[in-house]
Amino acid sequence: MAKVAQGALDRAQELYEHRGLRARELTAQGSKFVGYLCCYTPAEIVTALNMVPYRIQGGVGRPLKHADQYLETIMCPYVRSCFDLAMGGEYDFLSGVVIPHTCDAMHRIYDTWRYYIKPPYSRCITVPHMTHQASFEYFQKELEDFQHSLEHFAGRSASEDDLAGAIALHNRSRALLRELYELRKREPPLISGTEVIRVLVAGMTIPVQEFNDLLRDIIAEVRERKPIPDSKPRLLVAGSEVDDVAMIRLLEDCGASVVMDDVCTGSRSFWVDVDPAKGALPGLAARYLGGITCPCTYRAGKAAERFSYMGDYVRDWGVQGVLLYTIRFCDTYQLDAPEIIEYMESLGLPVLYLEDDYIMPPLAQWKTRIEAFLETIEAKKQE
Ligand code: SF4
Repeated sequence: MAKVAQGALDRAQELYEHRGLRARELTAQGSKFVGYLCCYTPAEIVTALNMVPYRIQGGVGRPLKHADQYLETIMCPYVRSCFDLAMGGEYDFLSGVVIPHTCDAMHRIYDTWRYYIKPPYSRCITVPHMTHQASFEYFQKELEDFQHSLEHFAGRSASEDDLAGAIALHNRSRALLRELYELRKREPPLISGTEVIRVLVAGMTIPVQEFNDLLRDIIAEVRERKPIPDSKPRLLVAGSEVDDVAMIRLLEDCGASVVMDDVCTGSRSFWVDVDPAKGALPGLAARYLGGITCPCTYRAGKAAERFSYMGDYVRDWGVQGVLLYTIRFCDTYQLDAPEIIEYMESLGLPVLYLEDDYIMPPLAQWKTRIEAFLETIEAKKQE
């Protein structure tokens, strides 16, 4: 009997559910994986040195076993969860770890990780919190130092061509992801928010070329779908790290369509390309410092200017309601939350704000609030 080819979305789900499996296979064949936290790590520099960037994720639904002995409890639970998994050996295939200084939790975990887990290579990248000309110049120099330290670890250097090739590969990946997000504009969207999270997380665990091939197949598979017409409330999810499907699946099980996001694992991580015309390091500095819309980078201006990109998402993806999601003790996001809510309400959109402890999300409590929220959107549609 002919073997049935595995669907591309099934493959993404397999990679999502067994994170690290492919990395372990490739490590056994001689590949080196460098783990990183946060979307400010320039993965292109890792790829240019023929190593594989691997986005470290936490474990939603997995109670902590080790972290409480080392980290205070009033600290970002996502960061605590990542460290907990690392202490349990989940990331023992990694040759190194890179952690940008974006928030205090990230900065402090770098020292703890280095001290207790002792990866062969470790690096903290200082990320300026402003976007003046001097900030970009500083950040470019910081990326140059990061490149040199990784070259020293790799035992080889990255040429301009290596960097340009890596930038092209990662830009291709971003373009394919934007193409996939285009398919969410349809009514109903051709791909669910739950499936999108699986694809994104899966892609952060495999080499970029392999992800690009998978993404092409996923896009082709999704385009073939013929969904039954419906008109579920269309939501934008905004906030910090969402690397698990639990909350998105709950929203969709309650009757919503999650059509767009502004979260760290989602559009924030890939929306803006590196401009190759600027040259490798200036292009990377411009893209990572200037192109990522995280509240850890201070941007002056009124909410209407700072969040106008989300206004564009609302218009282009036909968004009817916003779920604002923050992780407990994430000062960075929680300081911005009131202004985000005010901005979205000024666009006439209902907002539901959920604060999460990340490790054990209170799904049953949320269900009631989500159902009431979706009713509000439905009522608004009838007005
Ligand atoms: S969720 Fe907030 S506190 Fe946690 S790592 Fe991200 S920015 Fe830092």
